[in-house]
Amino acid sequence: MITRISQAEVYSPAALGVQQLLVAGNRIAGLAQQLDIQGAEVFELEASGCLLVPGFVDSLAHIIGGGGEGGFTTRTSEMQFADAARAGVTTLVGVLGTDAVTRTLTNLLAKASAFNELGVTCYCYTGSYQIPARTLMADVMEDLVLIDKFIGVGEVAIADHRSSQPTADELKKLASQARVGGMLAGKAGIVSVHVGSAAAGLSLLHEVAQSSDIPLTQFYPTHINRNQHLLQMGFTYVAAGGYIDFTTSTTAQDLAQGEIKCADALLQAWQQGVNINNISFSSDANASLPEFDSNNNFIGLGEGRIASLYEEVADAIRLGVPTEIALQVVTQNPARILKLPKKGKIAVGADADLVLLDKTTLTIKAVMAQGRWLYSDGSLPGIQARFGAV
Ligand code: ZN
Repeated sequence: MITRISQAEVYSPAALGVQQLLVAGNRIAGLAQQLDIQGAEVFELEASGCLLVPGFVDSLAHIIGGGGEGGFTTRTSEMQFADAARAGVTTLVGVLGTDAVTRTLTNLLAKASAFNELGVTCYCYTGSYQIPARTLMADVMEDLVLIDKFIGVGEVAIADHRSSQPTADELKKLASQARVGGMLAGKAGIVSVHVGSAAAGLSLLHEVAQSSDIPLTQFYPTHINRNQHLLQMGFTYVAAGGYIDFTTSTTAQDLAQGEIKCADALLQAWQQGVNINNISFSSDANASLPEFDSNNNFIGLGEGRIASLYEEVADAIRLGVPTEIALQVVTQNPARILKLPKKGKIAVGADADLVLLDKTTLTIKAVMAQGRWLYSDGSLPGIQARFGAV
């Protein structure tokens, strides 16, 4: 099936103006002001009043649930596929979390396979919150080399009372395994790092980079919008060449405790001239978001939402961050950091992962992944009839 989308303003995420886009099978086959096709059955989608943007890439989602730090009844539920599709997320990375005892890598891979069967592209990180890392094979390197869906390791926790209190040497060993495993398999081999609220923040990662041959770019620290102190540390970390990731699932309690909404954090970064190429958003979807008092006693629980990923991008645009800049943090930046060259962009040859947005309200109108329509709000004719068709 060939689909031609016309009249939409295309953001690749760079602003390309009104273009026609051709989808053939699961790939983008054409992008130009006028595309002529003859002798083929074409589904014509007239999308005036829409922005056409790349499908979103979510580098950290607890697809099999997470938690629960308040006992077994606070374990969160698995992610529903429809929630990811509706949120415009067409590529995601599933992770374990605080609990690598009752949540397992085998279960994670099974859930990722289910998501892939349903139409999105789902990878996983091997390893766990704690060191020594949980693995399926003998070690992290073998997991990365031998199991396709593993593209990195983590999230491994630092600067957090729930972490295994890893030393710089432990992190170096983990990162070297991920680095070589990634090299051998042609993958990112990235080390996803959960950064907690302890004042040390990112200092352990600087220490690792300064006392070894492992570059800062081996690490992908997340939750950097946790408080203003960590955010500023993050900007310094980017200036040193590193990547940082902000978490979009922010609760009212988080805000009361000083967390910076992603939209605001991105606005700060942009206004301060921080290199946006090294910044991404992730949802932390289906994580338990435990709330602790000042003595680290558990007092309540929220749950991460995948819809928050794009909601924060839309909010950043509303705050005045240019559209192409705001889109970067959920498209080309995470795709580049995760070494996924066919993801996070609109270009000929890239995967046909697309989101149509209402230009005025910025709401999601339709979502395509791998050439299949996965979601429509009903306002663009003809899409529902094509759900599932490639
Ligand atoms: Zn985390």
